[in-house]
Amino acid sequence: MTSPADDSALAAEHRELLAARLDEVLARLDDAAARAGRDSREITVLLATKMRTPPEIAVAIELLRERGRRVAVGENRAQEISKHADPLLADNGVPRHFIGRLQTNKARDVVAFAETIHSVDRDGIADALERRAETAGVQRDVLVQVNTSGEESKGGFAPTAEAIAPMVQRLLASPVLRPVGLMTIGANTSDAGAVRDSLQLLRRLRDAVREQTGAEHLAELSMGMSGDLEIAVEEGATIVRVGSAIFGARPA
Ligand SMILES: *Cc1c(COP(=O)(O)O)cnc(C)c1O
Repeated sequence: MTSPADDSALAAEHRELLAARLDEVLARLDDAAARAGRDSREITVLLATKMRTPPEIAVAIELLRERGRRVAVGENRAQEISKHADPLLADNGVPRHFIGRLQTNKARDVVAFAETIHSVDRDGIADALERRAETAGVQRDVLVQVNTSGEESKGGFAPTAEAIAPMVQRLLASPVLRPVGLMTIGANTSDAGAVRDSLQLLRRLRDAVREQTGAEHLAELSMGMSGDLEIAVEEGATIVRVGSAIFGARPA
């Protein structure tokens, strides 16, 4: 039980529940990495923080650090960026990423918030990010989002090297943006084979585009969420984006 004095902290029982879920996620990650002959400590666990409160995000970060994991936070709603200025989260040294649908009119906020931007999903958005980064005098790492599942609800470039390479070239020419990888949201289906196909495709596209463009830093594969992180790790994910499996179901 918490006393009223603990209002800003997470109730002890909530903290324990969060730790139990988080350890379950890490066990899944470790098993998948072992199957693939990978070191799971090299995989970044990106906390998908949409609709989560600063106390629960702060606890998840602390637990991941205690367990020696690479941790990042990923926000996907521009209107929730301000919560990361909470004293529980400000100046914590955790890399901040933006993982949501980008809007040109929010580019300034996103550039100010995130050192890595995962969701460059169409041509015009790179121009907006570049302009804002130049004005702010900062450099930003970006990933190109690819629609590997063909689902119409999802953003991203078509899953061909021909569709993606021009954007990577455009980013390579930027003084302030640096292409560091590809991102996808796996197929939304219970068919594990279809999910694996979509994630495997991202890896093949990264390799092909890196080769074609000479983008030597194009190393990251941001893929895998609560439901498909094992498959993603087996297929080479370097960043998994996890929300509900750690924090619990999102509030409706
Ligand atoms: C919410 C979100 C996630 C995490 O989803 P969960 O299924 O809750 O793990 C990952 N990536 C993006 C882009 C998201 O918006």
